[in-house]
Amino acid sequence: MKNKKIILSSYPSGMPTEENFKIEESEVNELTDNEFLVETLYLSVDPFLRMLMNPSDESNAASRDEGPITDIGKVMAGGNLGKVIQSKNDKYPEGSIVEGMLGWQSHPVSNGWINKRHNPAGVVVCKSSIDVPISAYASILGRAGLTAFFCMTRELKPKKNDTVVISAAAGAGGSLAGQIAKQYGSYVVGICGSDKKVEYITKELGFDVGINYKKNNINIFNEIKKVCPNGVDVHYDNVGGEIMDSIARLHNPGYRYRLVGIISEYNTVPDNKKFWSWPYEKPMFVVHDYTNEYDSGIETLSNWINDGKVKYHEDIINGIENTPKAFIGMLKGENIGKRLVKI
Ligand code: NAP
Repeated sequence: MKNKKIILSSYPSGMPTEENFKIEESEVNELTDNEFLVETLYLSVDPFLRMLMNPSDESNAASRDEGPITDIGKVMAGGNLGKVIQSKNDKYPEGSIVEGMLGWQSHPVSNGWINKRHNPAGVVVCKSSIDVPISAYASILGRAGLTAFFCMTRELKPKKNDTVVISAAAGAGGSLAGQIAKQYGSYVVGICGSDKKVEYITKELGFDVGINYKKNNINIFNEIKKVCPNGVDVHYDNVGGEIMDSIARLHNPGYRYRLVGIISEYNTVPDNKKFWSWPYEKPMFVVHDYTNEYDSGIETLSNWINDGKVKYHEDIINGIENTPKAFIGMLKGENIGKRLVKI
């Protein structure tokens, strides 16, 4: 059997290009004890993977305490949802659906690999009792959805009439975060990169207001201020940079704030090159802090989906060979909801 793999072929400088990747094919080896073979169904293209594409040096050594999980010549790191088709590991029986950081490849062989920093849950078997389409395990029930779920329900705890502002609001995490805040009765403002996205979050998802930060000559601070006359009580930040600073200038006393991501800066090399130490003060949010509670988060979210309390959208690109293009497009803001690659 052949395994198709997307290999990191060079380090990007700024926005990655398709030339930073190449596709290779190799024979799948015989399984040894404890191993299982997965047939990939979906690959997840996630913003943080961009940071894993940088060369290892002393500035990011702490985050690579178990070694870089991708590097030149290696399979590109990434989330993978698939079906076990051969197994020598009782925890992963043939036919089970599994999810984990198995890389951008069509037929990964694994032993359940755990990486403390990037994949502390290891490879997990998805519960067949949960009645949602399989792909949801890579989108709303995957890391992106769980991030919004735990950050909102456990840390930011929006209340009735709070003003909640969310950046990258039409993306995988932001779109769910806003719907959760609406469930609590908050007034929710989403910031995103096109009029189409504004329409999606307001008309489809029920956000109160959307702001297209890419509109010509926009002054983002003034726009946010205009729609937040009572200031900002809850700030869910996916992007960092100017948008983060503008929202922060409107914080009310007693505000709650979590820095969930800084996608506006993943393509830049700061002077101190400290990608993983994050150039910001806490409070950062880290979804892995909730690894032991993923099962209960997944159950609650799947109930919400089935009760019509939340909607989700998957932005699907077909074909493993299109994974780099899908990833780069997500970094450029092409996606509405969670971008996945269907294999
Ligand atoms: P996503 O929102 O589905 O996709 C990324 C979106 O970011 C793009 O669609 C784009 O939308 C926006 N974006 C790209 N460049 C931007 C820029 N320069 N300024 C403003 N927005 C920009 O991705 P996601 O998976 O849900 O992740 C969202 C954030 O959460 C990322 O920062 C990610 O690293 C972070 N994250 C953190 C954790 C954690 O545990 N802390 C876990 C998962 C994800 P627009 O069209 O709106 O620009």
